[in-house]
Amino acid sequence: MYTGSLRSQICALDPYTPGLSIDEIRQKYGLAQIFKMASNENPLGVPPLAQEAIARHAGEAFRYPRGGNPRLLAALSKLHNVSERNIVIGNGSDEVIDLLIRMLCEPAKDNIVCFSPCFNLYPIQAQISGVAIKRCPLQEDFSFDFNGLLAQVDDATRLVFLTTPDNPSGYCPKIDVVRDFAAKIAQKAPKALLLIDEAYMDFSDDETAYSLLAAQDIPSNVGIMRTFSKSYGLAGLRLGYAILPEVIAEGFWRARLPFSVNLLAEEAGLAALNDQCFREKTMETVRQGRKLLTDSLQAMGCTVWPSAANFLLFRLPQGAKAKDCFETLLARGIIIRLLKSYSLPDHLRVSIGNQQENAAFLKEMQAFLSGI
Ligand SMILES: *Cc1c(COP(=O)(O)O)cnc(C)c1O
Repeated sequence: MYTGSLRSQICALDPYTPGLSIDEIRQKYGLAQIFKMASNENPLGVPPLAQEAIARHAGEAFRYPRGGNPRLLAALSKLHNVSERNIVIGNGSDEVIDLLIRMLCEPAKDNIVCFSPCFNLYPIQAQISGVAIKRCPLQEDFSFDFNGLLAQVDDATRLVFLTTPDNPSGYCPKIDVVRDFAAKIAQKAPKALLLIDEAYMDFSDDETAYSLLAAQDIPSNVGIMRTFSKSYGLAGLRLGYAILPEVIAEGFWRARLPFSVNLLAEEAGLAALNDQCFREKTMETVRQGRKLLTDSLQAMGCTVWPSAANFLLFRLPQGAKAKDCFETLLARGIIIRLLKSYSLPDHLRVSIGNQQENAAFLKEMQAFLSGI
């Protein structure tokens, strides 16, 4: 008889809860058409050039991928004008986050620092690794209390997480404030890396106003993460990357599972980088949809937070319950996101969809709100 047990950190673990999947909802409600606006995926689907690349390379799937992803490294180096020696690639940003925590933090000794609420994967992966988590609450309007976050940083801090634009609010601080914060961390905790998660940065109106990567001005204690899951339309293939100090990047490649980025993901990623037409359409769709949904939800009496990303955080007018709204829309085939896991039971998050999805969402919102 097996008498082992799980590590205490795993016994206590509250797992990451993803948005509901289309299949789950189709089965549950027997609906023909489902619109998923819950996970901030690309509203236009997969870039056509990436679809072609996946089909073209399908016959190679029996081969192991080449180690080190050299072609993708070269393409990303060119895209961002940074040295290949500073770039790492992983099975989504998720793998990059997990591996950096394990590489940089000694269990039961070091800590990570993040806001509360924040993207749940940072504290969850830290907990799995037995690394302490120190948190600072967001301000009432979801903006960042940088002084409060800095106050959490101590000698044992190895990673400080920032998400810009932030999830779930869409808030994005200006570049000067972020640069200043990085300098303060360097002074207070020289062993801490400020890891900035820019999963949604390319949806902002002007990247150079918000991103140290876009402005070509990355301080030596800063790492920046990006992903192919959102604007590049490849969430299902799992591909993310980061720009890191060279010593960390070098260790990352030694520590990473050798084949975690699969062969089709690499080919699709390379093709997606070349699909300029898809990219322009994506940005136009998101910017137009963001304005349409913001204006329309406000006209219905909802409170909508300004967003630089491809989703909106909103609250219903007095008297309407977020959970009822979520369930009513679900039964009509529209999946949005409840924010219980972010400890925001009164708020909802909706991903910007394509024209058809946005129209269906607004129609059902109107119907729900006129029924209360
Ligand atoms: C969607 C998202 C990511 C992307 O994660 P992948 O593993 O690359 O799919 C990263 N950070 C945040 C905050 C996100 O919302």
